[in-house]
Amino acid sequence: MHDYDVLVIGGGPAGSTVATLLSQWGRRVLLLEKEHFPRHHIGESLLPLASRVMQRLGVLDKVEQANFVHKLGATYVWGKTRQPWTISFSEMIDDTTHAYQVERARFDTLLLEHSRECGARVQEGCRVTQALHEDGRVTGVRYVDETGALQVVSSRFCVDASGQGAIMGRSMRFRRFNRPLRNIALYAYFRGGKPLVEYVHDLSPQSQGNIFVVTVDIGWIWYIPLGDTLFSVGLVTDASLAQGINQEGRRKFYLDTLAATPEISFLLRDAHIESESLYTQSDWSYICRSFQGPGYLLVGDAACFVDPILSTGVTLAMDGGLQAALAINTALSDPQLTNWVMNWYEEQYRGKFQSFLQMAVHWYKGHRNQDAWFWQAKQLMDSSSNLSIRQAFILLTAGFAAGLSSQEPLELQEMGGFSSSQVKTIYDHLDSAILEQAHENVMQQSTHEPPALRRRYALHHFDGGA
Ligand SMILES: Cc1cc2nc3c(=O)[nH]c(=O)nc-3n(C[C@H](O)[C@H](O)[C@H](O)COP(=O)(O)OP(=O)(O)OC[C@H]3O[C@@H](n4cnc5c(N)ncnc54)[C@H](O)[C@@H]3O)c2cc1C
Repeated sequence: MHDYDVLVIGGGPAGSTVATLLSQWGRRVLLLEKEHFPRHHIGESLLPLASRVMQRLGVLDKVEQANFVHKLGATYVWGKTRQPWTISFSEMIDDTTHAYQVERARFDTLLLEHSRECGARVQEGCRVTQALHEDGRVTGVRYVDETGALQVVSSRFCVDASGQGAIMGRSMRFRRFNRPLRNIALYAYFRGGKPLVEYVHDLSPQSQGNIFVVTVDIGWIWYIPLGDTLFSVGLVTDASLAQGINQEGRRKFYLDTLAATPEISFLLRDAHIESESLYTQSDWSYICRSFQGPGYLLVGDAACFVDPILSTGVTLAMDGGLQAALAINTALSDPQLTNWVMNWYEEQYRGKFQSFLQMAVHWYKGHRNQDAWFWQAKQLMDSSSNLSIRQAFILLTAGFAAGLSSQEPLELQEMGGFSSSQVKTIYDHLDSAILEQAHENVMQQSTHEPPALRRRYALHHFDGGA
C-alpha cells in the first residue's frame, strides 16, 4: 500500500497545477516544496493560454481579485527599424482572455494555497534528495523535512515539477542543452518607471500592461509593468559576455546597457532601482531526453525550458501540468492505458516545446522584418491553414501552439470566431473526446492506437549533460 496516489516535487506553477487537478479528481496527493512561500522567482509575463488553465483549475477569480496587471498584448522594438510595433491578443482571441503580469512570489503562493484548498497535502521546507526505485520503477522519494530529518514517502506515481532543479532529469542525465540558446539574464526592479504609452503614443491606455521587448546589439531587454509604478527590467545576453565579471562589474554592464538603449532610458528616466542586488539567472534552453518512465513523469522546467523571448515558460508549465494530470489520472484509473497515455503526454508536450523553441531560434536570427517572424509562426501552426501570417503569430505568442489541450474546440471557435476547419487545424493533435473521458475518470480501453512518438526536435542542436 502506497502512502499517496501521487507525489509532486515542487510547488511552482507546474506542480501546483498537477496537485490541484488530481486532488479535485479525488486522488491522494502530497506536494513537497523545498522553500517556504512566498519566495522570489523570475517569469512574470504570462500568456492568455495560462488564464484558460487557471479557469480550469477554478483559480481564475482569485487571480483576478489579486489585482495583477492585465496584459493585453506585446510591443516590440525588433526588426530593421526602431519603430515599435504591437500585437493585441484580442485580434484573435476574445479579449476576456487576457493574460497577466505577475509578481511570482504572490502568484505562486496563490496557486499553491489553492492546491491546499482543493485537498492536496502541501509541505513546505521539504527538499527532495532522491527518487526511490524498485524493480525499475519509481516508487517514492527520500526528502529532508523542515526539522532536518530524513524522510521516505511512497506513491503510486511521482511527478518531477522541481523546475530548473530538475531533480530527476539531472540524476538520470536526461537534459540536452540547445547550443545556440545559451544566454544569461541580468534583471532588477525599478520604481517610478513611465507607462509604455508615454513612449508608444498610439498605444491604447488598456495596452499599457503590454510587455515591451527591445532589441539591443548584445541581446534584448524586457520591460514588464508589475503595477504601482514597479517594473521588472531584464537584459538577456550571450552567457559568455557576463562570464568572469564580478557582481559589481555585472551591475555596471547592466545599467550601462539600459542607459545606452534610448527607449528604456526614456522610460526609466525618473525611476530608481529597487532591488538591493542585481539578479542573475542562467537562461539555457534545454529538453530532457525523455519526459516519463515507469512510475514517474517530468513537467514544467523539470522537463524542458525555452528561452524567455516569447514568455512561454509559465504557460508551458501550467498547460503541461494540465496534460500531466490528465495522463496520470487515466493511468491510475486504468493501468492498461499507462503506456498509451504517457506517450500521448510526451508527444503533446514535446510538440509544443518544439514550436516555441523553433520560434525562439528564428527570432534571434538577425534584424529581419515582422513578416519573417509571422511567416515562421504560420509554418509552425500549420502552413496550409486559413490563418493569415499575423493571426498565426498572435496565436502562437498567446501560447496556442499546435496541439492545444486547454481549449475545447467549440469554445475556441466561439472565442476566436474561427471556422471549424481552422479550429481543427490549430487543434491538430488533440482528440478531445479521449481527453474528456480521461477528465471524467471513466476512460476505458480505447481502440485508438497511440500516436507514434515522433521525436521531431532537432537532436543535433542539443548537447549532452546533466
Ligand atoms: C531569465 C528568465 C526570464 C523568464 N521570463 C519568463 C516570462 O516572462 N514568462 C514566463 O512565462 N516564463 C518566464 N520564464 C520561465 C519561468 O520562470 C519558468 O518556465 C517557470 O517558472 C516554470 O515553472 P515550474 O513550475 O516548472 O518551475 P518553478 O517555477 O521553478 O518551480 C519549481 C519549484 O520546485 C521547487 N524545488 C526545486 N527543487 C526541489 C526539491 N529538490 N525538492 C522540493 N522542491 C524543489 C522550487 O523551490 C520551486 O518552487 C523565465 C525564465 C528565465 C530564466
